[in-house]
Amino acid sequence: MFSDLAGQLRIREQQGLRRVRQIVDSPQASHVTADGRSYLAFSSNDYLGLANHPALIQAVCEGMQRYGVGAGASHLVNGHSAAHHRFEEAAAAFTGFPQALLFSTGYMANTGVVTALAGRDDAVFSDKLNHASLNDAALLSRAKFIRYPHLNLVVLEKRLAATQARRRLIISDAVFSMEGDIAPIARLIALCERYNALLLLDDAHGFGVLGRQGRGSLHAAEERAVHSPRVVYMATLGKAAGVSGAFVAAQPDIIETLIQSARSYIYTTATPPALSHALLTSLRLIEQDEWRREALAQHIVQLKQGLQSLPWKLLPSDTPIQPLLIGGSAEAVRISQGLRERGILVPAIRPPTVPQGAARLRISLSAAHQPQDIARLTDALHELAAQS
Ligand SMILES: *Cc1c(COP(=O)(O)O)cnc(C)c1O
Repeated sequence: MFSDLAGQLRIREQQGLRRVRQIVDSPQASHVTADGRSYLAFSSNDYLGLANHPALIQAVCEGMQRYGVGAGASHLVNGHSAAHHRFEEAAAAFTGFPQALLFSTGYMANTGVVTALAGRDDAVFSDKLNHASLNDAALLSRAKFIRYPHLNLVVLEKRLAATQARRRLIISDAVFSMEGDIAPIARLIALCERYNALLLLDDAHGFGVLGRQGRGSLHAAEERAVHSPRVVYMATLGKAAGVSGAFVAAQPDIIETLIQSARSYIYTTATPPALSHALLTSLRLIEQDEWRREALAQHIVQLKQGLQSLPWKLLPSDTPIQPLLIGGSAEAVRISQGLRERGILVPAIRPPTVPQGAARLRISLSAAHQPQDIARLTDALHELAAQS
């Protein structure tokens, strides 16, 4: 047993795929202290720069004074606090849904939704580049798991037309986490209507960032928000919202089904109520601080301009996720390492997280960055390109 594990680990090491954790000893911000050294970081999902916001820190402290530290029990026993409940109501109103339900993490929200809505006689249709938590959720549900090529709705429609399944659930990232591109939401909803399906939309990277006042991907169309009873909307709260957790917003019967049967909702201790209390402040900052989204938009423009003449190309993305396509894993690691030596953190993303030969640097921008930070990154990348 042990020699088998050691052998597997050695192979992983030899393939350059062993991952190591760095120890961060500072709050998440544009600059972090990791392994004892200060870095300019382009590696977090703290898109709006809220993870270390004084108003959120204060709100957590206030919430702790009011509700204590631990929730003590699961939501269905007696852990469902007024703070959780108030946040659910606020999240539903903010995103334009009749009801919302708080989960401890986005991973648990996805497994809860898919397993509660789909089972043995059903089919789950999934974009090839969806987040791992959606794929795991589909496998756990025991539904037929049907994947379609990234954003290819022609293939998706063929597979929908061919299915005999009782219930059909399409699952998709709204903003793809390793690409930064955006799903064609209106067209996915049209397919749901044509083939009597539901759409689970995972807006981990759109909530707070996209749409009017940061209300998310469904609000990103300029004229008006997309409203459909067929959408089950999932947003995470540890990224742009700067805290932790996730919520699902949908029609009342769907939310009630989740409360009754989503195992990752039922069989786990509720999150500390103070976090929900602080999330009310997050929602307020997301709604009010338009300047954070404007700063992000400027950083995106500056980065694209700064990297135009590089041999490596940015993938087409208008979101804060700006992947620089390198190709080979070893080369991606070399560049990431070169940046690190220059005091800049940008993670190299390698297979199996991304397809073979598509290793990349995942540059993630934050409203907490300053224009000089972006300039430092583009200068360093030009230096490294000149050396290769
Ligand atoms: C981060 C992420 C999740 C998981 O959310 P957590 O709250 O971190 O568990 C789910 N889906 C996508 C697309 C993500 O990027």
